[in-house]
Amino acid sequence: MASTATPTAALERYEAVIGIEVHCQLKTASKMFCGCSNAYADAPPNTHTCPVCLGLPGTLPVINRKAVEHVLATGVAIGAETPPATRWDRKNYFYPDLPKGYQISQYDLPLAAHGRLSFQTSEGEVTIGITRAHLEEDTAKLVHATDDAGGRVSLIDFNRSGAPLMEIVTDPDVRTAEQARRYAEELQALLRAIGASDADMERGQMRVEANVSLRPRGTEPFGIRVEVKNMNSFRSVERAIAYEIERQAAALDAGETLTQDTRGWNEDRSTTYVMRSKEDSHDYRYFPEPDLPPLRVDAAWLAAIRDALPELPAARRVRYQAALGLSAYDAAVIVGDAAATAIFEGALAAAPATDAKALANWVTGAFLGLLRTEPDAAARVDPAELADLVGRVASGELSGTNAKEVFAAHAAGGGTVAAIVEARGFRQISDTSALAAIVDEVIAANPKALEDFRAGKPVLGFFVGQVMKATRGQANAALVQDAVRTRLESGPDA
Ligand code: ADP
Ligand code: MG
Ligand code: ZN
Repeated sequence: MASTATPTAALERYEAVIGIEVHCQLKTASKMFCGCSNAYADAPPNTHTCPVCLGLPGTLPVINRKAVEHVLATGVAIGAETPPATRWDRKNYFYPDLPKGYQISQYDLPLAAHGRLSFQTSEGEVTIGITRAHLEEDTAKLVHATDDAGGRVSLIDFNRSGAPLMEIVTDPDVRTAEQARRYAEELQALLRAIGASDADMERGQMRVEANVSLRPRGTEPFGIRVEVKNMNSFRSVERAIAYEIERQAAALDAGETLTQDTRGWNEDRSTTYVMRSKEDSHDYRYFPEPDLPPLRVDAAWLAAIRDALPELPAARRVRYQAALGLSAYDAAVIVGDAAATAIFEGALAAAPATDAKALANWVTGAFLGLLRTEPDAAARVDPAELADLVGRVASGELSGTNAKEVFAAHAAGGGTVAAIVEARGFRQISDTSALAAIVDEVIAANPKALEDFRAGKPVLGFFVGQVMKATRGQANAALVQDAVRTRLESGPDA
């Protein structure tokens, strides 16, 4: 009998088990095992190559120290163990993007093992175990194109071949699509904080793959897993996993047996599709790399890396709340976004007396709001200018409404806050005697409203509105309220 349950109803019977694999490109000057520049992102194809990264016979690899240090730093940051000695292994497979026929990687002795990462979700704090982080080399890039005769060709760009790549694998601890997205976001924040990677998903610097299986709630054994690839944003990580969970739940509910496939996420169709059936690791015939010696990590080296670590996102969130008085939400939003963190830290560095909570409101509101429509605008906002703006609002010199306009003008390249305030005549009127004079004029110009006031009608708002209009919104609204009330009650001639 076919099940009539909807996938969502089926989900109540199954629990998702998810493990996440992240590959990230490390920030180094040169590639993993050769001297080619690692800054190949916008270079013409095959301009960053040499006999080593082209996989020519007779060449020998040389280990990139900086790449090793990035993985060691990541290990320290996630509380992982570092083995005293690690080694390199060959992962063998044939594909045109892998000229040697094997990838130099790490198999059973990764540079970091047994770490963890904690982060906030809508259901509270979650900690995910991290199985390992290891170092390997990237593959070349295949470009599928059309030649001059209209035939279909596959081209190989070896610029990426041999670039340093860190793979970070979690335990199967993740339970929801949201947790998976949050894990990826937190990992990005961490990698950026320690300078290991720019970790931009859209640019392929951080590639997230999710292994997803379901099991009946309350049972232990894992189900058959599917590996989901091709997710190019945090949002698609969450959507792809949510889709996959529902798909598997519906299939299991209908009595189908799942197959251990690798599936791709199709963003336009919002579905996953079968790419290939999955290999097992024994298919790769891993064996120790004979061209590289084992790598010893001595305690002093590790201690130096630990000492050089900057403030990590988790500690930064705690500091923002405890020392700066930010809400947990604002702290999480700012720390979770590299541009927001940079502008917030930069503004406080430029003007340490700035009210941090008011600044946080500007960063999470106007600044991040702007970046949503104009991702490139971040570079145009000067943190010192933002601090100046926040200071002017706090001192009452600039009204909230006008401050928003000044911010927009500054972010559009309109110059300094001081210059914009001056040019637009935005100096807020907070001078009480000047305000009193304007209030008197407004009252004198509206005898009918004054009569209404004497008859007990509510006209306060009307007068305040007229004063704001007369000052083109530049009067301090709270002071205007007070002034209108005082003048009406005591009479303009008092
Ligand atoms: P592979 O070598 O095929 O990539 P791994 O054993 O390294 O496989 O596991 C890859 C990821 O899949 C890890 O994050 C792991 O936690 C996760 N994983 C393993 N088994 C399951 C399962 N049954 N369901 C979901 N995730 C799983
Ligand atoms: Mg895998
Ligand atoms: Zn090279």
